[in-house]
Amino acid sequence: MLQVLKPISKIASHVQASTTLAIDSMFKDMKANGIDVVGFGAGEPDFPTPEHIKQAGIMAIETNKTKYTPASGLLDLKKAACYRLREDNNLIYRPDQIVVASGAKHAIFIALMVLCDPGDEVVIAAPYWVSYSEMVQQAGAIPVIVAAGEEQHFKITAEQLDQAITPKTKAFMLNSPSNPTGMVYTKEELEAIAAVCIKHNIYVIADDIYSNLVYDDLEYHSIASLNEEIKRRCIVINGVSKSYAMTGWRIGYAAAAPEIARAMSNYVSHSTSAPSTISQYAAIEALNGPQEDIEEMRKAFQARRDHLVERMNQIEGVSCIKPQGAFYVMMNMESFIGKEMYGQLIVDDNDFAKLFLEKGLVATVPCSAFAAPGFIRWSYATSMQEIDKGIDRLENFIKNA
Ligand code: PMP
Ligand code: GLU
Repeated sequence: MLQVLKPISKIASHVQASTTLAIDSMFKDMKANGIDVVGFGAGEPDFPTPEHIKQAGIMAIETNKTKYTPASGLLDLKKAACYRLREDNNLIYRPDQIVVASGAKHAIFIALMVLCDPGDEVVIAAPYWVSYSEMVQQAGAIPVIVAAGEEQHFKITAEQLDQAITPKTKAFMLNSPSNPTGMVYTKEELEAIAAVCIKHNIYVIADDIYSNLVYDDLEYHSIASLNEEIKRRCIVINGVSKSYAMTGWRIGYAAAAPEIARAMSNYVSHSTSAPSTISQYAAIEALNGPQEDIEEMRKAFQARRDHLVERMNQIEGVSCIKPQGAFYVMMNMESFIGKEMYGQLIVDDNDFAKLFLEKGLVATVPCSAFAAPGFIRWSYATSMQEIDKGIDRLENFIKNA
């Protein structure tokens, strides 16, 4: 008889699969099997990576730039990241403060590994991107969720944060523009939040990955740009996945105080060694090269948002507030809770999203995954035709239920 093996680690056994990635792979599988499904699941731009960036990757291969790089990334890429942080977000960093990682997700992961001891608490502003709480737990820390509802435009207040902080709090995780809400914190809101973080002497993981995707000429501020005291405590996260349509290249980066950057770099050196060299060369071109393509994509996202929001709000039973950035819309579906659709009781957003995929052939993400039950996230990083198709299907799905 086979001997029973010892259990895997307690930490690993509690880690859940990423809902967003699971829905995306379900959608891609259905599509590959010839099913006419429309996808609003994963937050992944439908645009191809701009040509000049692809060429930089090809050139890296052809000129044999295919060896290891320093663990925290190529100096030229760190310089390029400093340039963009200064130009776009008014943040001054030196190259030795930058750590390049295999995606922004990995940069957040290493930041948490470096900051947290077992039992530390990390406050997360909710609704939040599904991976935050899982990553906090993988670092042995405890996620503390502070939630803001639709009436607060999904933004937590400084008072809420203040009340959630305990002597065990190590860090606060903020994402503006937010996935899944698309909301952007104002300068005044950030100032109040920053004051609380300074008062309690906690770190801030400022996930600015959507900072280039802000609409209607709204002014964007990174919390780290407010003053030196808050900047010292910030680990700023950014990357090329979203604004440069480079999700598969897997390049993100963190900017932090030199001692934190050094610790993060050491961590990388014993895990991935360094991010892909070829992708790093492509990312240098993305950050230093012409920015017209990304402006075109931003404008397209804005037009899609306007269209999706307008059409969604014309449908009986659902509604949404207009997001200001990123490429997500939170659809309120609370009016269906407790009702029957297609002979099934809708207990929550999970039931609705499952049925919408099965009967309506539209993939979306139930927001319970983001600590926002009663909502469905639509990613509008897809074409106008697909948006119309998806909304037409929503109309029919509700009408025929
Ligand atoms: N932060 C947020 C809020 C995101 O939505 C994503 C999307 N995956 C990431 C970080 C990670 O991006 P990347 O693909 O660079 O790992
Ligand atoms: N961030 C995107 C999303 O929320 C991509 C998938 C993921 O990494 O979670 O859909």
